[in-house]
This record gives sequence, C-alpha cells and structure tokens, in this order.
Amino acid sequence: STRIVLASRPERVPTSENFRTEMVDLPEVAEGHVLLRTVYLSLDPYMRGRMSTAPSYAAHVELGDVMVGGTVGQVLESRHPDVTEGDYVLAGAGWQSHAVVHGSQVRRLGPSAAPLSTALGVLGMPGFTAYSGLLKIGRPQPGETVVVAAATGPVGSAVGQIARLKGARAVGIAGGPEKCRALLEDFGFDAAVDHRDPDFARQLAGAVPDGIDVYFENVAGHVADAVLPLLNLYARIPVCGLVAQYNGSDLDGRDRLPGFLSQILTKSLTIRGFIQSEFAPEMYEDFLTEATGWVQDGTLRYREDIVDGLENAPEAFAGMLQGKNFGKLIIRVAPE
Ligand code: NDP
Repeated sequence: STRIVLASRPERVPTSENFRTEMVDLPEVAEGHVLLRTVYLSLDPYMRGRMSTAPSYAAHVELGDVMVGGTVGQVLESRHPDVTEGDYVLAGAGWQSHAVVHGSQVRRLGPSAAPLSTALGVLGMPGFTAYSGLLKIGRPQPGETVVVAAATGPVGSAVGQIARLKGARAVGIAGGPEKCRALLEDFGFDAAVDHRDPDFARQLAGAVPDGIDVYFENVAGHVADAVLPLLNLYARIPVCGLVAQYNGSDLDGRDRLPGFLSQILTKSLTIRGFIQSEFAPEMYEDFLTEATGWVQDGTLRYREDIVDGLENAPEAFAGMLQGKNFGKLIIRVAPE
C-alpha cells in the first residue's frame, strides 16, 4: 500500500519537501481489527498544527509517521463482530491507501442517506463545527447579523446557512469575486465581501448597516482587524480557527492586544474558543439527524473540491492554507 509520512517540519507554508511517499506491506489484521481501503481523504486546516511541535490541544505527528486525517473507506476484511466486509465506514485512517484500525474506531455510513464524501464535510466534522460553535456560543437571534470568513469552506458555508435558518442575517467573507458570487447565488448569504479587495474594510462596514452581533472567527489576521470596530454591544465571538496565522504569515508585528481588551470591556463581548469534539457527546446525534434532513431537502447546501490521487495531497493541502480550494477539500484516493 501507499502512504504519505511527515518528512520534516515546515516553518511557513508546507511544501512537498515536508512529505515523503512510501510503499509498505499491509499489516496483519489482528483480532478486533478491520482492514480498510481508503476512498476519500479529508484535508483540513488543523493538519498544519499537527505538523508543528508548538503546544496544541492534540499531539503532533512524529517525523516518519503517517499524516493524520479523516477518511471514508471500504472494509476489505473484518475481524470485528460489528463491522461487515464491503461496508463503507468513516475512520481516521490518515494519508494512506490502506489501513488496519480497530473495529470500534469506525462508524458505518448508511448507503443512501447522502453521498459518501459528505461524511467528511457538511455531514461530518466541519459541519458539526459550524453547528455546535454557532448554536452553543454564537446563539444567533432573529434579525441579528452574523459574519463569517472562509465562508465558502465547509465550516463557513454551514455557519451562514444555519444562521439564516435561525432568522439571522448572514454576511460572508471570502477571497475573490468568484467565491463571493457563490456565497450569494449558491449558499444564499445576504451579503458577500471579498477580503482581497483593497477596499475590503469599507465594503464590510457597508454590508453590516446594523453592526455585527456574531463574528464566527475562522481566520483572524486582517479580517478580524476589519470586523472588530463593527461589533455591537454584547456581540459573541466563537473562536473556531485562525487560519491566517497557521503559516506564521499575516502577522505584521503590531500589538493588537490593548485595543482588543478595550473592545471586550466597552462592548461587553463574549469570546469563547472551542474544539468541536467538546460538544460531540451532547450534540452530535442531534446534528446528524437535523443536518441530514437539511441536506436531503436542500436547505443546507454544500460544495466539494475533489482532487484525484493521494500523491496530490501535499500540494492540495498547502493550497488550502492559501485559499486555493473552493469548497470542502477532499482527495479521492480510489474510486468508490
Ligand atoms: P476552508 O476549506 O474554508 O479552508 C480555509 C480557507 O481559509 C481558505 O480556503 C481561505 O478561503 C481562507 N483563508 C486562508 N488564509 C486566509 C487569510 N490570510 N485571510 C482570510 N482567509 C484566509 O477550511 P474549513 O472550513 O475546513 O475550516 C475553517 C476554519 O475552521 C479553519 O480555521 C479551521 O482551522 C477551523 N476549524 C476548527 C475546528 C474546531 O474544532 N475549532 C474544527 C474544524 C475546523 P478564502 O479564499 O475565502 O480566503
């Protein structure tokens, strides 16, 4: 089988030098385990953190180890009573064509609920991130204004649409006119603003005439700089991701902390970071039921950016951290 391991740690944007492709023999399938062939591999911004030894909520990948990642795979052999050969399952098999994992670590995917790839996006971890972070921390009320960046991605697109389902006004921020058009035409946002436009901050102010009540923080950087002055009294900020900072770029060295603290105080802001897994025990089943219904009846739309071939994962991953993906980035490792 083929696998991609971490070869070295990137300082800024990852390059192909940071990864190495290896051919290995498949391990024995021990009692309780299952052998999977990977069909889809999810590429997500958090993987940049796993490549680095900086302290984080999750352990980093060791040099020489397989890159981690969520996968949809098919069971080729099962030595676990609850898993059947031929089943499609959600697993965390990482960047490899085949994997042996414990049968308790996979979740069977129903055959007809939705396309298999959605288990990595709108009906998977990113969709749940949007749902839990927005509803638990953002708590949008009817008539309020919700702003989210990386808005055509799997998290941001779901945040905007769920905000609208709750009666709020959704304003999306994305890179480039094509993505902004998709926000309005495909995802039904009320307004879209291009953060690459030199006039971005003024355009954002124009798009939120009543100010901002919820800022779902996906990116930080110059987007957060433009958002902060527009926040309303009692605004809520679920801090979900800081992708503008992940490559150590977009930091101009200015000390923003005093200004930020003063905003928190004078506007009585609620700022709360979260990792989606903390909400899973109480909310994941509700999310799956509710979001599956929304996807099936067309209320919750999604866009996927599917790249063929495991060998293309490093380049696609680096591209995502710079906005080159358009929708949920997925590697098709093998045909269904
Ligand atoms: P996306 O598919 O949206 O990909 C990231 C996007 O970030 C890019 O496409 C780009 O979109 C945007 N971006 C990159 N650099 C910048 C920049 N400097 N300024 C503004 N935007 C930038 O990713 P996801 O939807 O998977 O993830 C969105 C966020 O959610 C990430 O921060 C991620 O880490 C976080 N996350 C957090 C979780 C949690 O539990 N807390 C779980 C899952 C995700 P564009 O071209 O539009 O600028």
